[in-house]
Amino acid sequence: MLIPREYILQKFYQFAGYPQFKKHSNTYIAGCPICREGKSWGKKRRCIYIVEDNAICCHNCGWYSDTIKWIQEVSGQTFSEILNESKEFDILPLDVLSEKKEPIKLKPVEDLPKDCINLFDEKQVEFYKDNEVVQDALALVRRRRIDTAINKPETLWLSLNDRTHKNRIVIPFYNESNNIIFYQSRAIYEKDLKFYPKYLSKINGEKSLYNINKITPDIDYIFIFEGPIDSFFIKNGTAVAGIQENSNTMFSKLQEVQLNSFKFHKKIWVLDSQWSDKASRNKTNKLIENGESVFIWPESIGKKYKDINDLCIDQGKSNLDIEFIISNSHTDMKAKLLMSVICR
Ligand SMILES: [Zn+2]
Repeated sequence: MLIPREYILQKFYQFAGYPQFKKHSNTYIAGCPICREGKSWGKKRRCIYIVEDNAICCHNCGWYSDTIKWIQEVSGQTFSEILNESKEFDILPLDVLSEKKEPIKLKPVEDLPKDCINLFDEKQVEFYKDNEVVQDALALVRRRRIDTAINKPETLWLSLNDRTHKNRIVIPFYNESNNIIFYQSRAIYEKDLKFYPKYLSKINGEKSLYNINKITPDIDYIFIFEGPIDSFFIKNGTAVAGIQENSNTMFSKLQEVQLNSFKFHKKIWVLDSQWSDKASRNKTNKLIENGESVFIWPESIGKKYKDINDLCIDQGKSNLDIEFIISNSHTDMKAKLLMSVICR
């Protein structure tokens, strides 16, 4: 590296607001000195120094550059001034800085179930070519069009010996720094449904939003699904990993924070077809009451398919038309009216 990391860190501590070290992801987060966090200076830390990538970005103003460019921007120094200064710089021990206490929060989950195999890694799959469970998992992945879906996760896992998540497809939830901090597993075999539900969340893990690292500002919307698999089929799709039918809280604390950093995106909920599922009808009504915008399945397709994955399988789609979702999403009176027709 051209410039010592300690020097960059020193500059980051000097110019960014109230920095914190995130040990498990090896990142530093702080108040962004470029946008001053909009109206949230002193409250939010959306500026991130990603040590491994030698990059600094901001989830509020969208700044993204290498570290030197960022130092140029915030310090007003030229490239050569920075270079010279860094040569004379007294190296500060890193551990002095990382000793800062972090505020209390749930321990992040970064471990997957035991001995996981990545089903998207050709080499690993080749190694297990004679393993029946691996082959059954891959068949399910192809049957549900997961392997071609536009918003599929970076990796997809399977454990052959985890106590709880054994023989289930494990869907990773990456955070903003591309770390897996949560996961949900889905049963492969019908017979296993006697012991465990079809979907299982990481035990003791705080729910994170699915593929939050893939949300782009190019699309004005974020589409919120209950389960991740449906959200694989649309850009800016995310999932909450289940909502309670009778609860007013739709998000975990962490999910709320994550969603708040995309406050300029309009949010649309996409649930299973209200025509075929009573729980979905109840949840839709609840969301409408809470002032949310909800995709309401048109009768012709809502009676034919139970969810987005079914629709995509039958119609051979990997990338759902965003306009189709937007044009069938409603709030308030219009939404209530359409729901009253379905509930009749
Ligand atoms: Zn910023």
